[in-house]
Amino acid sequence: MSSNLQPGPTIDDRHSVHEASQPIGRLQQRALRLKCPACGRAPIFRGWFAMYDACQACGRRFNRDAGYLLGSIYFNYGVTALLVTIMYFAMFFGDVLTDMQRLIILTTFGILFPMWFFRYARALWIAFDEHWDPWPNESELRQMQRETQHTP
Ligand SMILES: [Zn+2]
Repeated sequence: MSSNLQPGPTIDDRHSVHEASQPIGRLQQRALRLKCPACGRAPIFRGWFAMYDACQACGRRFNRDAGYLLGSIYFNYGVTALLVTIMYFAMFFGDVLTDMQRLIILTTFGILFPMWFFRYARALWIAFDEHWDPWPNESELRQMQRETQHTP
């Protein structure tokens, strides 16, 4: 009965929802739709590069700590390098373009693709992290409890 009077999910509710690690396939699908990996209900981004601090639906923090999102560079660089390599060999053995044309096309791709892929790389990084270290972990839970106690 008393739980019906609660205005929203409590810290304990959120913890029980997120404490188990979710299957990587589900997290990946949510990431590719740029949705919160923890619940899949709300968007991660509010603009091309601008992110929400936390999920509007479940409260999952998207930037868990200073430097946390730098890991997304691995995804962005890895996918870009793989595609440039594949395209280079396809063009090289296709033998329809000059060296200069290949250089211009691949350089342009190498600059523009990572900008387009930026949001997906971050979403995939957050999803990957959510699988191995579901939010909130013990120290984040303690931090949230401290913040709740200090709020009047
Ligand atoms: Zn969420």
